[in-house]
Amino acid sequence: MTKDEIAKHRRSLWLRSERAFGLESVRTPQPNGPNRIEPEPQPVASQPASAAQLFASNGDAESTPTMGEALSREEKIARLAQMDAGEVKPCVRCRLCETRRNTVFGEGDPDAKIFFIGEGPGETEDLQGRPFVGRAGELLNKMIAGMDLRRQQVFIANIVKCRPPDNRVPAPDEVDACTPYLIRQLEIIRPKVIVTLGLPSAKYMLNSRLSMGKMRGQWYNWRGIKLMPTFHPAYLLRSYTEENRAAVWSDLKQVMAEVGLPIPNRARG
Ligand code: URA
Ligand code: SF4
Repeated sequence: MTKDEIAKHRRSLWLRSERAFGLESVRTPQPNGPNRIEPEPQPVASQPASAAQLFASNGDAESTPTMGEALSREEKIARLAQMDAGEVKPCVRCRLCETRRNTVFGEGDPDAKIFFIGEGPGETEDLQGRPFVGRAGELLNKMIAGMDLRRQQVFIANIVKCRPPDNRVPAPDEVDACTPYLIRQLEIIRPKVIVTLGLPSAKYMLNSRLSMGKMRGQWYNWRGIKLMPTFHPAYLLRSYTEENRAAVWSDLKQVMAEVGLPIPNRARG
């Protein structure tokens, strides 16, 4: 491709992505603009992280995925399938097993560069045994398409693998019981970037009590993997403002840059 063709392709990608978000003419938020809020657990880019921040919260430095051996694609597929069939499907480690219809292990490319973490299955997910296949899933699909990716090229999982009744937030003991599965999924897949969707997953991964508004849009470090918190698509659906959509799109652009996906000039703010 010539330079002109590349620039044209990038412009059309940018416009397509904006349209996917319903953003025809959004201004890119300025990183130092008036709405910037200083985060408390310092994001990695603005301050050297302490060891405690690097390994914030959950899990020991010893089991960091960056320290284990890298697995082949076949080995990853085998380990994930074994965990799903042998452990998660028959799991009775918390009370959510009593009301679930299906467990929702998660799905996607075992070599995915981007790993999305939601909260827990909703009704449609519980019925189908797949993550993000309801209304929030439709919006997540748009977010992924906006990044010029397909669902099969990322990995999607949740903090808990069984549906909390009435879609309530998972209780702390349910999160404790279930997250060893998520941690092992992350260790097997070893994505380049983790994107947490909504407050419960950001809170869990970063061991933080900050609000979503304070956390989102900044890079954090989870055991050597870069982590970007952003809004949950279900929240976006409830609060479908241009400001919120622009915020998510700005977070996703940072993720695209990090994994080397082309971002047109206008989108680099
Ligand atoms: N919301 C989530 O957090 N996860 C899903 O899988 C579906 C909806
Ligand atoms: Fe097991 Fe997790 Fe389901 Fe609880 S939510 S029963 S820990 S798979």
